[in-house]
Amino acid sequence: MQKREQSFGIQMLTVQPDTKPKGCAGCNRKIKDRYLLKALDKYWHEDCLKCACCECRLGEVGSTLYTKANLILCRRDYLRLFGVTGNCAACSKLIPAFEMVMRAKENVYHLDCFACQLCNQRFCVGDKFFLKNNMILCQTDYEEGLMKEGYSPQVR
Ligand SMILES: [Zn+2]
Ligand SMILES: [Zn+2]
Ligand SMILES: [Zn+2]
Ligand SMILES: [Zn+2]
Repeated sequence: MQKREQSFGIQMLTVQPDTKPKGCAGCNRKIKDRYLLKALDKYWHEDCLKCACCECRLGEVGSTLYTKANLILCRRDYLRLFGVTGNCAACSKLIPAFEMVMRAKENVYHLDCFACQLCNQRFCVGDKFFLKNNMILCQTDYEEGLMKEGYSPQVR
């Protein structure tokens, strides 16, 4: 099975005083501290293993880091940048997590897909929209639909 998240463990090691100091993969200086971090088969100062986005110290926030496109990221930023929100209820394609989405009940939509599915009218903030049989409808189409249903002759 393919692993979707590129996560790697971080180990904190105690530096043995009699060993040769290791070079830090972040700043390329020797690590002379008492502790060092080991991640991605490299050694790091505690301060140097940082999230490329929010600069949090990864050795502190957890024992996992995420990498993608040569970036080292914390879980939160990784998910924000590269995770997925879900499938758009209108076009059923995946929505990347960093994209703005519209939500209606438990459905998510691309901004571009969030329109009345009968007349294609877009909605602005504050506009009313309706969900019927999982279709987004503008007020006009929704009410028209209600009228039709309400006044359709009952054939028995
Ligand atoms: Zn360093
Ligand atoms: Zn971060
Ligand atoms: Zn869509
Ligand atoms: Zn409409």
